[in-house]
Amino acid sequence: ARTVSFTAVRCRTTHPALQRNTGAGIRAARPVATASPEPGHEMVHFRPAMTRIVMKFGGTSVADLDRIRNVAARVKREVEAGNEVAVVVSAMAGATNQLVKWCQELSPLHDAREYDTVVATGEQVTIGLLAIALQAAGIDARSWQGWQIPIRTDDAHGKARVEAIEGAELIRRMQSGQVPVVAGFQGIGPDNRVTTLGRGGSDLSAVALAAAVRAERCDIYTDVDGVYTTDPRIVPRARKLERISYEEMLELASVGAKVLQTRSVELA
Ligand code: ASP
Ligand code: MG
Repeated sequence: ARTVSFTAVRCRTTHPALQRNTGAGIRAARPVATASPEPGHEMVHFRPAMTRIVMKFGGTSVADLDRIRNVAARVKREVEAGNEVAVVVSAMAGATNQLVKWCQELSPLHDAREYDTVVATGEQVTIGLLAIALQAAGIDARSWQGWQIPIRTDDAHGKARVEAIEGAELIRRMQSGQVPVVAGFQGIGPDNRVTTLGRGGSDLSAVALAAAVRAERCDIYTDVDGVYTTDPRIVPRARKLERISYEEMLELASVGAKVLQTRSVELA
């Protein structure tokens, strides 16, 4: 099997120091620095026995069966370390582009509700495949489409906003040792129809889900080795950042860094 290396972008969604006033809702919180301890000072960790994590894998990480097995192995490690894990996946690399193209070819001015019906299918494939791979690796797992949770959105088909996520059942499953494998990008609108969250929307799904299940961490695995000060393919002097604030990441995302979807950073 081929090895794929991943880089985790960690978005701290909740922190013990903030929990007092965060509640269950999704709201902005200042990032909490995790700088190394000053000399002579001891770093104090508030680490619960078990950590609830949302792990998100993008299209290149689930592009073929070997990579899906690799993702399953990665998830298995977190489960075996004693963590409660939910996974969010994108469609296989290239799949969504193909689906979008088919809609456009049939009619440039297509019905946005039918567009969502079509483009949301990519994630249905990968959640099922990853659940199978996890089960084959001895991990209890189950796939979830957006409407099954449900992830409720407004009716802006093609670029819907997340309005609410029912987290209780997923939490219950995680506590009983099952891994929910959740389709990124999908929701259900007020008209009971499938919606999608805009291109790159699985990042947003992961962050919103992390808030809904009160996860300690949302780890976004991606196929680049980090966030740089500018595009390293164009500017050789670009520096890789060890750590980045929400504000800086928001700025980079909004001017076109493809690492994280802008709305996901806003929500985080
Ligand atoms: N599959 C969707 C897209 O290609 C969502 C995502 O990958 O985040 O835009
Ligand atoms: Mg992406």
